[in-house]
Amino acid sequence: MIYKHRTLSKELLLYQFVNTRATLSQSDSQYHWTLEKGYEGEQLFDLLLQQLQGEFIILNDLLFAFNNTFFQIDSLLLAPEKIHLFDVKNFENDYIIDNDNNWYSILQNDRRKESKNPIHQLNRCETLLKQQLQKLGFKSPITSKLVFINPNFYLYQAPPNYPIVFPTQLNRFINQLNSQLTTAKLKDRDFKLAQQLLQNHKEDSPFKNSPDYSYDGLKKGIYCKSCRSFDVFTNPKTIVCSKCGFREKIETAVLRNVDEFTLMFPDIKVTTTAISEWCGIIKSEITIRKVLNKNYKTIGKHRGTYYVDK
Ligand SMILES: [Zn+2]
Repeated sequence: MIYKHRTLSKELLLYQFVNTRATLSQSDSQYHWTLEKGYEGEQLFDLLLQQLQGEFIILNDLLFAFNNTFFQIDSLLLAPEKIHLFDVKNFENDYIIDNDNNWYSILQNDRRKESKNPIHQLNRCETLLKQQLQKLGFKSPITSKLVFINPNFYLYQAPPNYPIVFPTQLNRFINQLNSQLTTAKLKDRDFKLAQQLLQNHKEDSPFKNSPDYSYDGLKKGIYCKSCRSFDVFTNPKTIVCSKCGFREKIETAVLRNVDEFTLMFPDIKVTTTAISEWCGIIKSEITIRKVLNKNYKTIGKHRGTYYVDK
């Protein structure tokens, strides 16, 4: 049973939006790629977890603040009286651990580039989760694993006792989990724990990165939801992509653009004029006003009217 599904983070959405409407700087583009890659890896892991049977609760993308320290969890699996903590990595290529436990990625010509030791991050996460559980009054044992999901990943000199699941071990790992899960049942206490964790989950991380962008530097208009092309035309009720043929109701498209606008410019008021300019393609402000009136709460009158969530 999944209690909390994975969704695109606001941070990744922001990078995707800016990337569609402008050209990201090289460092922003690199960071965007890392986020996409991470998300892709997490989704692949979610697919694997779909093979699980028996009684369990999955909580994805959790963010907690404990004693002013934030920590994030990719996947938490609550099994009967046991908690599995997963940190999913979508690393590719070859890595090596040296005698001092430093991690390096191996580049061409056998050059090495130091990389963060992901086990430190996993341990930190486990310690903080333990403290969080104690505070909530729970004592379930935690098993933490670093999951390398990408079949192109290889790690040289990894000791066998490391808390790692390698790509070639994933199927066996899921089978092992299955045999544990099908022999025991969840208790009320496990459900209570899931609820408490969700109540303590924070929606917004204060440590998000943001790409460089400005209103003037962004291409305006509605782009195709499917292929992100701006080459779209409007029918009376739909927007059609000339490139891939994808159709979207005008109302849905406008609402999607309002969401995008408010994420990118949280300080600018949502007005008919602002959204008409942002959407570009719909010439008549009447259409925009209708959609806004129907879906948002109106504040103010006449020229000063703006919209907020209902
Ligand atoms: Zn398209």
